[in-house]
Amino acid sequence: MKCYFLLGTLCALTCSSVFASEAGDLAQQLAQEYLIVDGHVDVPYRLMQGEEDVGLSTEKGDFDFPRAQKGGLNAPFMSIYVPAAKEDEGVAKSYADSLIAKVEAMVAKHPDKFAIPKSLADLQKQVDAGLISLPLGIENGAPIEGDLDNLKYFSDRGVKYITLAHSKSNHISDSSYDKNRPWEGLSAFGKRLVREMNRRGVMIDISHVSDAAFWQVIDLSAVPVIASHSSARHFTPGFERNMNDEMIKALAANGGIIMVNFGSTFISGESLNSYRKISEQADSFAKKKGLSKNSQEVKEYTDKLSREQFIYASLDNVLDHFDHIRALVGVEHIGIGSDFDGVGDSLPIGLKDVSQYPNLVEGLLKRGYSKQDIEKILGGNLLRVWQANEEYAKRNRG
Ligand SMILES: [Zn+2]
Repeated sequence: MKCYFLLGTLCALTCSSVFASEAGDLAQQLAQEYLIVDGHVDVPYRLMQGEEDVGLSTEKGDFDFPRAQKGGLNAPFMSIYVPAAKEDEGVAKSYADSLIAKVEAMVAKHPDKFAIPKSLADLQKQVDAGLISLPLGIENGAPIEGDLDNLKYFSDRGVKYITLAHSKSNHISDSSYDKNRPWEGLSAFGKRLVREMNRRGVMIDISHVSDAAFWQVIDLSAVPVIASHSSARHFTPGFERNMNDEMIKALAANGGIIMVNFGSTFISGESLNSYRKISEQADSFAKKKGLSKNSQEVKEYTDKLSREQFIYASLDNVLDHFDHIRALVGVEHIGIGSDFDGVGDSLPIGLKDVSQYPNLVEGLLKRGYSKQDIEKILGGNLLRVWQANEEYAKRNRG
């Protein structure tokens, strides 16, 4: 905007605050106008913990229909999160089924608010009809249970991506969180699965896997892949769950996108260190008292430490990740993967729930991102990857 004041100080103050409110208004408008796709929202697992009607406003959690509408959210991927232990228990597939049933029940209860898309065309139709489209993504490939027919089964149920592993190495891939890495990347079955996912048009999600597994996926996949909820390791050295610069470059060269996770410990090295210190103290407390880490006393002690010592990331810290990735590979390879309802209370101030995407948009505007850039980041880039996967599958399905 132009500045008509002659007094420098007054001018600076007035203009910056006017600009701030203009950017805020424009951000609200763009959040409503542009398609917002979020790569990772943990509503189904939240609903497994206790009944809630997220079609109405809810006290708890980070997502419900009214807040999603306020934030301009159109298509949050519903994470079908299967805890690692379910593979050992032999119940991963049935557990994934029960999570999908939770999403289907949401849709059945509120057909005027929600729908599950089985294709990109479905998603467009649902969004045009004013619905919140809920694509499914399985977090942890355990439910495939070593049988490629199960990939077809879940694809037919509407699953659009699979995160190959979660917190432990599984029968498909090694995990970034696990010291035990039996496959040095992907298992032989995991390699077959990657090719079959390409053929079926189910996107490969490399969040959570080990670096070695990531590089093998990049070598094997004929189509672009996604990181549904990972951030830049540049800001969190040694945290393998985020992606280093070389990996981000390779992901982009393959046409894929990194969807930035908002969780404070993914965003800020300071926050990650505060979390690590809290965990160490909680571990030694449990050891000294001879208690299990899951005992009530240890949980209460950890909560107390968190209240006193946890360092939250800021919205600016989150924006730094967007800037960093843009400088490395350009805006075409960035998306959002908030991890809402998946990272508890650790979200940064200003990005606490699905009503707050406009704050992110405002931050991007203030950092000089164009409207076209923002449209790509909010959803355009993910649609491009989805389309490439869908088209490859159409061409290659026998
Ligand atoms: Zn996750």
